[in-house]
Amino acid sequence: MPSLLDSIAELSGVGPKREQALNKLGVFTVGDLLTYYPRRYNDLAQKLPSQTLDGEKVTFKGLVTSPPVISRMGFKKTRLNFRLTVEHDTIQVSFFNQPWLGKNIEVGNEVAIYGTYSKMRQSLAAIKMMPKNSEDELEAIYPSSKEIKAGTIKDLILQALGKYKDALSQEIIPEDIRRRYRLMNYHDTIFGMHAPADEQVAAAARRTASFMEFFIFQMRLQVIKQMDRHNQGRAITYDNDQLKAFIKKLPFELTNAQKKVVNEIVRDMRRPVHMNRLLQGDVGSGKTVVAVLAMYAAITAGMQATLMAPTEILAQQHAQTIGNFFDPNEVRVEILTGSTKAAARRQILADLVAGDIDIIIGTHALIQPDIAFHNLGLAVIDEQHRFGVQQRAALRQVGMNPDILAMTATPIPRTLAITAYGEMDVSIIDQLPAGRKQVKTYWLRHNQFEKAIDFVKKQLTSGVQAYVVTPLIEESETLDVQNAQAVYEELSAYFAPDFKVGLLHGRLSNDEKDSIMTAFKANEFQVLVATTVIEVGVDVPNATAMMILDADRFGLSQLHQLRGRVGRGSRQAYTFLVSDPKTQYGIDRMEAMVATTDGFVLAQKDLELRGAGDVLGNRQSGVPEFRVGDPVADLTMMNIAQEEAIEIVDTPDWDKTPEMAGLAEMLSETMDRYRNFD
Ligand code: ADP
Ligand code: MG
Repeated sequence: MPSLLDSIAELSGVGPKREQALNKLGVFTVGDLLTYYPRRYNDLAQKLPSQTLDGEKVTFKGLVTSPPVISRMGFKKTRLNFRLTVEHDTIQVSFFNQPWLGKNIEVGNEVAIYGTYSKMRQSLAAIKMMPKNSEDELEAIYPSSKEIKAGTIKDLILQALGKYKDALSQEIIPEDIRRRYRLMNYHDTIFGMHAPADEQVAAAARRTASFMEFFIFQMRLQVIKQMDRHNQGRAITYDNDQLKAFIKKLPFELTNAQKKVVNEIVRDMRRPVHMNRLLQGDVGSGKTVVAVLAMYAAITAGMQATLMAPTEILAQQHAQTIGNFFDPNEVRVEILTGSTKAAARRQILADLVAGDIDIIIGTHALIQPDIAFHNLGLAVIDEQHRFGVQQRAALRQVGMNPDILAMTATPIPRTLAITAYGEMDVSIIDQLPAGRKQVKTYWLRHNQFEKAIDFVKKQLTSGVQAYVVTPLIEESETLDVQNAQAVYEELSAYFAPDFKVGLLHGRLSNDEKDSIMTAFKANEFQVLVATTVIEVGVDVPNATAMMILDADRFGLSQLHQLRGRVGRGSRQAYTFLVSDPKTQYGIDRMEAMVATTDGFVLAQKDLELRGAGDVLGNRQSGVPEFRVGDPVADLTMMNIAQEEAIEIVDTPDWDKTPEMAGLAEMLSETMDRYRNFD
């Protein structure tokens, strides 16, 4: 039986080379090929010259009114000319380098010709002869690559449409959903996308195809989510009184937002299902203490907790801050990173498996095969977008499939969160601790640089520190970009002998970076010239000024992250954006940065300015690119797809009915992969 899961190699004309070329386009199965939709359509509908714009591609049907004349235009280059009378207009038609067409053209013949119309010259640069009674008014145009031409793709799709017609009678979207939202059936959708009879059909097919794409995506997420929750989930029965007492002893009062998310998290931990929760909160919103409370809850249940950070310095910083929250006689916190010495590591591993360590903080070094826990209840992942999907998966496998709390400071607009984090439950801290001073932000032109640097110098005199951020480090990349090295030298000279300057960039080894950050934290130098490597998480409360050079070269989210590095203490902090943006887009971003310090507002702005794909950054977020649907423009549709998917997956044995067979088959790979996982 032909199945849409058949490999494209089953089609005739697909050898290993073509298969590879198609694979590169994301096409592996016949189903992939049939959902490889046209980018656009050429309108082959016949028109009159008076209805046609200059430069428009058009089909004219008319009578040949002069004999064809072939002229040579150089070696192997010819032009075939004749006159075509279309109702009341006569135009000149030219075919280039296709002299053999002449034999089809005789005075008095009726012909249809597709080409580009020049209004001024009243001529048509012909592209091809059309069958006179062609029914296709729209010609599908496919995205192609160097290795495979659009025409070849089209031929393969036509072949597949013929051979796999029967497979398309198996529906994907259940009938009641199709009826409720007036969607087309599967067969008509696929045919309507590839060979639409007219614009209306194409538009209707596109609407259903978008929904179908979202629906399959949401079904996949919901299936994963459900399997995840019900796989080996354990109830972490924490001691509520102990937790409350611990909260009372904190050096500050939790914000309402923190209280809300702590409740969401511990309630989830207590349930006998596996937690997979994302904690989203702007820089400085106080995610660390929330993680501490969740970890403490696990400890009161007699379990261990771990926190994994993307870099060594962040791990060290966390170990220090988190350690300070606990009485070492009550809770033992250890750190394990790549630089932990062999003997110390051995001891830690032994204590970990014996249950003598309550909280272990570290980097990737935590997910090694020889690491075993006594009873791991909760794993916290800081700056989750910095970890690959594989690492996150590996962490799940460390011991007992712990509850997962992932933390991110990257605000994702609500309109995208559903797509970005569909398989996770999301908790949001949408409030900063009281009394926090807003970072004052100024946008300056390059010719005001001196003024800004003088201001920074005055600040330094009062004992604080400053960052100067530069966009690129390699001189060879772009000449007009100031590189970190040059800025470093310039500023060293400027600040000498009063203040010292340090340099941090991506070319340094991790150890070198860490020792520079440590020295900056210890105020061994007062100005840190750095590329964006300081972006994430590093906390130097004494640094209250930041200057970002060529700021228009950064995205809004990145600028926001950078700015979040200052203003972590009680003193007023400042950010100077130095740039002469050359585009309106650059100007818009500078103005947005000055106007607000709210990460969610900026993320939303970024989304409007750049579009969904760029904001999410495909690799970072694991959000797929959609072929037809736009998760932002079609948000309502995405929401509906999610609601429907949740309802389906909540029905026991939903995948066992004949109606759902097509959908279940489509998701079978996901389900199998997940079953094998545990
Ligand atoms: P982030 O969410 O960026 O990781 P942190 O957890 O590092 O933020 O918190 C930033 C600072 O705010 C820390 O110094 C922390 O101790 C402090 N903080 C956290 N919660 C509160 C609160 N409720 N009231 C006052 N200060 C707080
Ligand atoms: Mg943090």
